[in-house]
Amino acid sequence: MDECVFCKIVSGEINNEQIMESENFIVIKDISPKVKGHSLVISKNHYTTFLDMPSEIYEELLTTVKTAASKIIKEVDADGFNLIMNNGETAGQIVPHVHWHILPRKKGDGFKIDI
Ligand code: AMP
Repeated sequence: MDECVFCKIVSGEINNEQIMESENFIVIKDISPKVKGHSLVISKNHYTTFLDMPSEIYEELLTTVKTAASKIIKEVDADGFNLIMNNGETAGQIVPHVHWHILPRKKGDGFKIDI
């Protein structure tokens, strides 16, 4: 996946602010944060969407998300967080390499999700 921006981040070709890593995932700060602490959990291997990702790494994914979210919440003193993933262009996925958004939330932060 020569042109994939997240593959380039995983390989170290593009600089990033890394928060943590596990065997199959890295967690980095989003380059264009929607809220303070907005971070991304990215698979080290290239899978386009969640449907392409093997089930063997589901448990590790959840543990990575939980560890990262706890760390980020503490760092930015958040009251809660949203966990969002976009799958496919129609659903708002811009980078076609599976990832989860961790969005720490604070009262009055002005960020809205209408669901
Ligand atoms: P999505 O719409 O779910 O595909 O979101 C992709 C996210 O990746 C956006 O929030 C971007 O700001 C973020 N992003 C794109 N390039 C980089 C990068 N080089 N480093 C960190 N985050 C990035």
